[in-house]
Order: sequence, then structure tokens, then C-alpha cells
Amino acid sequence: MESQTQFTPTFSFELFPPKTEAGMEKLQANVLKLATVNPLYFSVTYGAGGSTQNRTFETVNWLLSQGIETAPHLSCIGGTREEIISILKRYQEQGITRLVALRGDLPSGAGMGGLGELNYANELVELIRSEFDDFFRIEVAAYPEFHPQATSAEADVKNFKRKVEAGANAAITQYFYNPDAYFEFVDICEKQGLNIPIVPGIMPITNYSNLVRFSDACGAEIPRWVRKRLEAMGDDKESIKAFGLDVVTAMCERLLAEGAPGLHFYTMNQSTTILKLWDNLNLSER
Ligand code: FAD
Repeated sequence: MESQTQFTPTFSFELFPPKTEAGMEKLQANVLKLATVNPLYFSVTYGAGGSTQNRTFETVNWLLSQGIETAPHLSCIGGTREEIISILKRYQEQGITRLVALRGDLPSGAGMGGLGELNYANELVELIRSEFDDFFRIEVAAYPEFHPQATSAEADVKNFKRKVEAGANAAITQYFYNPDAYFEFVDICEKQGLNIPIVPGIMPITNYSNLVRFSDACGAEIPRWVRKRLEAMGDDKESIKAFGLDVVTAMCERLLAEGAPGLHFYTMNQSTTILKLWDNLNLSER
């Protein structure tokens, strides 16, 4: 973990583009609350394969209209080089300088016919660097508990290395509840000479069934003791939120105390729990 302490910690928030007008209004109200604590940037996810791209643009445009530092996510699967370059040109013209570059997952039902010209995130990073030099600061994804499709832990680290060598400036991790997995992953990267900030992605715990569903899909492990405690709370939403806040606060405290270079919060377009976490961690004092 030593290499990570050289980086100035960054704190950022992730949003997803809402599907409805009402969702957009809720996002806007929550973003205005979240913006009061001055995160470094807000990122906006991007649906692979043409599903929700216009909603991403709308959300990005609104954030820019509010003078908020915005980092759009861009995934390459299902898109052509030309399409990707035209999106990047548009972002460049809008004054965006930070991107989260991903392979993406095709939406279910899209079929395999939607696969585009770039198959992996390292190819997207290469394309951005070859067309735009260093104009964009590029964040990529990292998986302390390894990507669900990785053929082995070793292969996954090798593939992560490809993204760093292609020119990624920093990484944001998939969420996890086992800080040892993060520390171990960072150590492996350090031994490989990978010298970029690897910022933990933090998912608050507010709803048990959603958490289980997401975690199964993305390969994040919920520790048995956390699962058992949450299961025992049944539908008691307040107890789940209070326990979740304690668990996630303690994990973030440990991550920061042991050298993590910041935190990236998956806000799920909510603000209350995120702001409580922010306060618990005294992040405004940092
Ligand atoms: P890659 O780095 O390309 O890796 C994908 C898989 O392929 C891994 O198993 C890897 O080991 C393997 N691999 C990588 N490169 C190679 C190679 N050259 N040869 C052979 N195998 C290789 N999804 C979205 O659709 N939209 C989003 O906005 C979005 N935002 C995200 C933000 C974060 C911080 C994270 C952690 C994930 C996000 N995702 C998003 C999900 C992500 O798209 C999926 O996890 C996807 O399956 C992998 O994307 P990646 O960029 O990590 O892919």
C-alpha cells in the first residue's frame, strides 16, 4: 500500500442516468445536496450497446449547466470507433476533461450481434490516447475481488495492467466489503510496478435484496456476518440503514487510515446516506 500514500486523496460521487422525468428531478435535488460538500467530481454511468446513452448526455449536460465538475463514463462494447470518437469530440467541446473508460456490459437481450470494434477497456484507453493525447484524465475500473469473467486472478491483474500501460491515470474499484481484498490487490499491483491511484468504490448498504442482486451480478462478496445480520433484520429498513452505515463507515475509516487515495461513492442517486457517511468520516475536514 505504500505507493498509494503518495497520491492526494480524491473524493467523488457516481450517478446513473434516470429513466424518467421524476427520476431526473430526484437526481437533480440530490445532486444539489451532495454538491454542498464539494466532491472533486460527479461521474455519470453509461449504458453499453446504445441503451441509455441519450440519458447519460442529458444528465451530463445538466451537471455542466450547474457548473459541476463532471466525468462521463464511456463504455466501448457495442460501439464503433467512429461513434466513440464523435462522443469524445462532443465532450471535449463541452470542456469535459475527465472520463471513466470501460468495456461495459451489453444490456440483457441485446444479443451478441451488438459487439462493436473494441472488445476491451484497454483498447478504449488506447483509442482515447491516440486521438486526444493527454486531453482527458482517464479513470478505469479495477476489481479487488476480480472480475467475474476473468479466467484467473493473475490474468485479471495482467488485463488491468494493460489499461494502465495504455495510459489510464487512475482506477476506481468495483465495490467490496472486505478491505483486505483491496489491500491485497493494491499490493499485487505495486509489485507489478503499477503506479496509479486505485480509489476504492464504496457502495452504501441501504436495501438487502438489491444489494444481494447487484453483488451476485458483479462478483462482490458480502461477508457472511454482514449477510446474516442483514437477513435477521427482515423488512426493518431503519435497522438495515443504521447497521449498513456502521459497517461502511468502519470500512472507509480503515481504508483511509491504511493509505487508500480517496473514496468514490456509488450514490445510487441518493444523498442522505452518502452525506451521513461523509460526516462520519469528517471528509470536509480533510
Ligand atoms: P475490461 O478491463 O475490458 O475487462 C473485462 C474482462 O475482460 C475482465 O475479465 C478482464 O480480465 C478481461 N480482459 C480485459 N482486457 C482483456 C484483453 N485485452 N484480452 C483478454 N481479456 C481481457 N458498465 C457500464 O455498462 N456502464 C458504466 O458506466 C459502468 N461504470 C462502471 C464503473 C466502475 C467504477 C466499475 C468498477 C464498473 C463499471 N461498469 C459499467 C461495469 C463494467 O462495464 C463491467 O464490470 C464490465 O464487465 C467490465 O468492464 P471493464 O472496463 O472493467 O472491462
